[in-house]
Amino acid sequence: MKTKRFKIRDTEIGGGAPATIQSMTNTDTRDAIATSEQILALENAGCEIVRFSVYDEACAAAIPEIRKRTHIPLVADIHFDHRLAIAAIENGTDKVRINPGNIGSESKVRELVACARDHGVPIRIGVNGGSLEKDILKKYGVTAEGMLESALAHVSILEKCGFEDIVISLKASTVSKTVEANRLAREKTPYPLHLGVTEAGMSESALVKSSIGIGSLLLDGIGDTIRVSLTGDPVREVYAAKRILKAVGLRSEGVEVISCPTCGRTRVDLAKIVKKVEEALPDTDKHLRVAVMGCAVNGPGEAREADIGIAFGSVNAVVFKKGELCYTDKLPFVVDRFIEDVLKELE
Ligand code: SF4
Repeated sequence: MKTKRFKIRDTEIGGGAPATIQSMTNTDTRDAIATSEQILALENAGCEIVRFSVYDEACAAAIPEIRKRTHIPLVADIHFDHRLAIAAIENGTDKVRINPGNIGSESKVRELVACARDHGVPIRIGVNGGSLEKDILKKYGVTAEGMLESALAHVSILEKCGFEDIVISLKASTVSKTVEANRLAREKTPYPLHLGVTEAGMSESALVKSSIGIGSLLLDGIGDTIRVSLTGDPVREVYAAKRILKAVGLRSEGVEVISCPTCGRTRVDLAKIVKKVEEALPDTDKHLRVAVMGCAVNGPGEAREADIGIAFGSVNAVVFKKGELCYTDKLPFVVDRFIEDVLKELE
């Protein structure tokens, strides 16, 4: 189903617009300076939309200062209190995350919707598998169907008010439930989907969970914004999200280093060489595929496929550029020569 398209500040979302990278600050929002500094660090890393908690009036009051110091769209995360959502919107936030079913009376929802509409601010409905409503739990348990039904109940409250600039997120701590819930949502609703696997953790297994969950949905053409949830510095979330988008072919900027896993044929310390190549690379938007391969048997094939590639024998290495054999040179000097050539390709 083709999704609705609208803007969060100046960023297009849905309707085939490129999937964007989100993260969330973990500073105290009331501290506008610290929060802005973290948002700037996230921007520098490539974050395109940022969310922060607005849990009291002081948080909402910090928004104008945060807005002044930062550039990307701001999303206020609010639970229950529609007055905080209204204050956040009036103070310059570009999207709010609040579940209308938790606000209370219809008049409160209408008040919020009127404010969001006046300011052109979309509303994200966020359903988490760990906090489903009691009636849903009784009927479905923690299932993809239950998560979707919960989201649709919140959606229908907004639709009743004639409001359709809605983003939905359905997050569970297991990959399979997250994927299933979002596949169901894509079939049943026209609203953009924000993807993430919640409470993933902080280690490699967290990255694996997010990569499979978010990546498999993106490969199905599902997902309009993504967040990789990792415990700790949120800048890591942005790097991980960029890698996922690259891996599924939705982004191509930057250098992609391909290296073989090594095996009994390898005669060089390939891990050390790959590390040296990676450390020499500048931060760039230019796309370049660099292959670093461990032998002269299977290595040249992959090296030839890359924009620039090297395959190591025991005393020599061969270097290819755009599929052509360029030169053969001796170890260890060939490594520095190869790095110089990679850097020239990026000029
Ligand atoms: S490219 Fe060569 S060294 Fe690397 S894993 Fe394959 S066979 Fe082994």
